[in-house]
Amino acid sequence: MVKMNQHSLNHHFYSFLDLFLLYMNQQKRLAIFERLAIAIPEPVTELNYNSDFELLIAVVLSAQATDKGVNKATAKLFPAANTPQAIYDLGADGLKDYIKTIGLFNTKGANIIKLCRALLDNHNGEVPKTREELEALAGVGRKTANVMLNTAFGQPTIAVDTHIFRVSNRIPLGKGKNVVEVEKKLEKNVPKKYLLDAHHLLILHGRYTCIARKPRCQSCVISDLCEYKEKNLD
Ligand code: SF4
Repeated sequence: MVKMNQHSLNHHFYSFLDLFLLYMNQQKRLAIFERLAIAIPEPVTELNYNSDFELLIAVVLSAQATDKGVNKATAKLFPAANTPQAIYDLGADGLKDYIKTIGLFNTKGANIIKLCRALLDNHNGEVPKTREELEALAGVGRKTANVMLNTAFGQPTIAVDTHIFRVSNRIPLGKGKNVVEVEKKLEKNVPKKYLLDAHHLLILHGRYTCIARKPRCQSCVISDLCEYKEKNLD
């Protein structure tokens, strides 16, 4: 009988402790995002675009390429062709002239022509708004679909790229061995208020402060809240 009471006491004690730790973690994560939001007042993509379609093309081109490189190419491409019909009419060879400075341009170009055809045939030339329809387009994977859902359509999705993967594992905000694991954990851990902006806050934090080699921990606004064991405080 005594044993049972002790057990139930322990049970309650641990439950309380668990709740307390959960609360502390939530508060900490909230503080992390509050500070990032102040440090990064404009959490938006660095890709240049003026329509959902232009954003889609820019994101497809940006795989394994820098935003700067993509912007340079689209600064010439979009004034010449910025609709599915216009890019389709360029054809693979015509399109190549505009994007040949970008890595994997052959594959990306072929995908973009197919993608334009599918938009014309199946979506009245519009960019579809669901994950299933987006992922059915040539050259559009989970990451690109997430970027479109978040940036064009205002849905609280987080496209885990190399920056977000690194930052999330370091702080940590969501530890995982692959991008889907990290994405799922972030969806659970990021405070609701910041779910929409988390994607760009974490990318920009990773791109400029929590960089891959020698993170800039000294000037990092969340240094005291970050648990990364190999902080660069020299
Ligand atoms: S303290 Fe360093 S490791 Fe931690 S988030 Fe900031 S830059 Fe990244």
